Amino acid sequence: MNNKNSQPLQSPHWADKLASGIIKWQKKLGIKNLHVDDMKTPSGRVHTGALRGVLLHDLIAKVLQKQDPKVISTYIFNDMDPMDGLPTYLSREDYEQHMGKPLYKIPAPSLKKSGIDFTQASEEEKEKYSQAKNFAQFYAFDFINAFQRLGCEQKIIWSHELYESGQMDKTIKIALDNVDKMKKIYHEIADYDLPENWYPFQVICEKCGKIGTTLVTNWDGEKITYECQHDKVNWAKGCGHQGKISPFGGTGKLLWKVDWPAHWTSIGVNVEGAGKDHSSAGGSRDMAKAMCEQVFDIPNPFDVPYEWILIRGAKMSSSKGVGTSAKEFVELFPPEIGRFLFTYTHYNSVIDFDPRTMSIPDLFDSYDQGARIFWKKEEGDQRQGRAFELSQINDVPGAYFLPRFRDLALWMQHPEINLIDKFSEIKGSEFTKQELEELKNRKHYAQIWVDNYAPEEYQLTPLQELPIEAQKMSSEQIEFFQKVVELKNSKNNWSPQELQQAIYELAKNSIGTKLGFEAIYLALLGKQFGPKSAWLILSTTPTLLTKRVAQLKEI
Ligand SMILES: [Zn+2]
Repeated sequence: MNNKNSQPLQSPHWADKLASGIIKWQKKLGIKNLHVDDMKTPSGRVHTGALRGVLLHDLIAKVLQKQDPKVISTYIFNDMDPMDGLPTYLSREDYEQHMGKPLYKIPAPSLKKSGIDFTQASEEEKEKYSQAKNFAQFYAFDFINAFQRLGCEQKIIWSHELYESGQMDKTIKIALDNVDKMKKIYHEIADYDLPENWYPFQVICEKCGKIGTTLVTNWDGEKITYECQHDKVNWAKGCGHQGKISPFGGTGKLLWKVDWPAHWTSIGVNVEGAGKDHSSAGGSRDMAKAMCEQVFDIPNPFDVPYEWILIRGAKMSSSKGVGTSAKEFVELFPPEIGRFLFTYTHYNSVIDFDPRTMSIPDLFDSYDQGARIFWKKEEGDQRQGRAFELSQINDVPGAYFLPRFRDLALWMQHPEINLIDKFSEIKGSEFTKQELEELKNRKHYAQIWVDNYAPEEYQLTPLQELPIEAQKMSSEQIEFFQKVVELKNSKNNWSPQELQQAIYELAKNSIGTKLGFEAIYLALLGKQFGPKSAWLILSTTPTLLTKRVAQLKEI
């Protein structure tokens, strides 16, 4: 983007910086094709936190693809992992028998018993979930829906298909042939000494179908010997079966810490970041790096250690069923604004998001400002403009008027306010079709925010009964409130701005604005702070205003 001459040269957006770093690294190592990947075990509803990795990788891949369309972008679901715990929303009775089995071999739950709220879902959406072939796919669908809504376009890979297709065979053999090197890595990197008889592989028991309970006891270069142990883990019971089987073609999988770099090796991944939890010294990312270099003989993929996203208020929201899972979270905003949350914040900073505070209106404001910077309607940090550009799901739109979210949220609660007139006035000209569409769209999200999360000052309903807090009002404040009601009654067609100005003057010339506005909030809402008072007064019926004056006089 071109900076205006008067502005100092600003540093590029972090995604662009990251992409140039990757390309430099690629050239240095002589890597032919870039392959960006991320992965996840679909063991139940996927939490919002997991969105950060998907968005980050999608963004990196897209910025790279602008320069080289051959860059590959994938997302792997580790569906061969065992079921090793049961989410609270699933019935133990239904799933006890499946504990320890690979997730792709476990039946999908019914919609009703899945822990996902389908009350708002369309028939088409329900049909899609009903077609999930297994447990892993059912919850993966839920997560895929969420990230695709934010414009992520990774190619989905099911890990069990990689194993079954034989694509992992060569890597499995390397892993089993190099047990001593692996043990050395565990010792050196994680300070962990493995037992004499250790192999980085788990078989799906031929008798009971469990994978979490088996232990490999030998490898002869062609077949492995294994036991399905009763008490290997405390979350599943093995059947005691002993067998000998080839480890190739999907009969089992590599242990997690080996499985990760083995996937990279088998499909050629060379860019994969990891959350900070994996990136501590001696953690799984360090282990994977050592295995790439010492066992699998591939370059350690370019790493991007990224920070958390903290979503607060889950306890409050879970009762309403909003904002707990990734899918529910993305429904709080239009897709490009949800995406903006991730493109705007540097991957190295924590995203601390609480829908109960002003996080949502603030996000809309930052997005709108980014748009104006991008459209050259406002000067500012070009990175914010670039974040707006990178947030678009479709083509980047040309300049148009964006109605401010927090004003919309307030004004739409006033039946007397015509939103189109109001915002056209601010814009200074008539709304276009695109702007009408934007207003309608934002209204939908403002309603969700007001109904579920907005701080009380954004909820305008005056209380029908005298609030206890009104006892705090001084006699001057009571008198002032009466004057405000008289002022309002003195004219029929107040515009909110006019009335606001009149109240302001009245307060300034009597008890002062602070005490004056406080009087209105205390009398009608029982709070010391509130929305613009004129709007509050105008949204209160004349009967209630008269009644309140009478009640206050009796204090
Ligand atoms: Zn068994």
